[in-house]
Amino acid sequence: MIPDRIFNGPPWIVPRAVYVHVPFCAHRCGYCDFAIAVGRESEMGAYLDALEAEAGRLGGPFPVDTWYVGGGTPSLLPEPLLERLGALLARRFPLSEGGEATLEANPESFGPQKAHLLRGIGFNRVSIGIQSFSQGSLDALTRPHRADASAEAVEVALNAGLAVSADLIFGVPGQGLSDWENDIRRVASLGPSHVSAYGLTYEKGTPLERLTRSGTVLPLSDDLEAAMYSLAMDLLPGLGYQQYEISNYALSGMWSRHNEAYWANHAYFGIGMGAARYVGGERSTNTRDLSDYIRKALAGEPLSRPGERLEGLEAARETLYLNLRRTRGADPAEFLSRTGMELSAMVPGLGRVTRAGLLEPTVSGGLRLTRKGLLLADTVAGEVLSRAGGPA
Ligand code: SF4
Repeated sequence: MIPDRIFNGPPWIVPRAVYVHVPFCAHRCGYCDFAIAVGRESEMGAYLDALEAEAGRLGGPFPVDTWYVGGGTPSLLPEPLLERLGALLARRFPLSEGGEATLEANPESFGPQKAHLLRGIGFNRVSIGIQSFSQGSLDALTRPHRADASAEAVEVALNAGLAVSADLIFGVPGQGLSDWENDIRRVASLGPSHVSAYGLTYEKGTPLERLTRSGTVLPLSDDLEAAMYSLAMDLLPGLGYQQYEISNYALSGMWSRHNEAYWANHAYFGIGMGAARYVGGERSTNTRDLSDYIRKALAGEPLSRPGERLEGLEAARETLYLNLRRTRGADPAEFLSRTGMELSAMVPGLGRVTRAGLLEPTVSGGLRLTRKGLLLADTVAGEVLSRAGGPA
């Protein structure tokens, strides 16, 4: 049971967002290191039982402003199980008037029937894993869908009255700058309200990372990747999509409210295999093993190790790191109320990245990444997490 104190308090203590993880995938893409389960579709029903058991143990109902069902491939769930999921969310996490309810979908497992069903059970947004419109890039990523399926999926979602967020990946082996430009222009022509553009990463232990280590696959040069990131920053705003986070762009007013809660370092519920949560000031993550998750959830056993609680300077550094992901950066009043610390006190220790032109003050006394800082966001993150608030 969640302690009573989290019913009252500020948004970094009382969650107003819930994440549900649906781990099932038809196959594993070469670059994927998410918590997923491949070829386990026969356990989907038991998984829904486990989700219901986990949510039931929390108590509630807990009113929230956003639902986000991610994966894995949530759109792989058959319709009766999607209905169960919608009913579970509505019962345990009732959505406020005008709330945002997103489900991740892949083009190959999403059609008109599912789109209308989702609308009927309370979802108003889908995040579609397009990744690329080039068959060569999809093959390099070992994505399961055909290039022409993506446009159809976006059209189906829009026709059903769902807002669409489209995911693209750049920096794919073999991809050229003009291929990436085609992907950007093509996605904008389909009319989603939100576009995420992620650089490909080679996570340790994934098939793609192994292929690069053996020399079978050649990663793109850092310069070409940087040019691709810059191209997205230059092109998308002209097509109507303002950049509001390192990898995210949206039409006016169509930011992801769910992700905004993460970047504000606010609390959120998380249920399901491998799901992370931040509740009552404590972070914890569920087991990433499907059988373990189902068994423990149904038996009422703990699903995660004891949570981690950051305090004082460490918590302030984490908040600054997350706030700086937003293009508007960190706001002094918001930062003070969230952390109890002055934003200005965090700055002297960041001299190195400021002098290198990666961070800049805003007119309202805030702090944000420069364009160069957006390109080198990982470098800034490392400095923020180790030096912010420390000596100059
Ligand atoms: S569809 Fe997504 S979650 Fe599933 S294997 Fe591919 S990248 Fe991973």
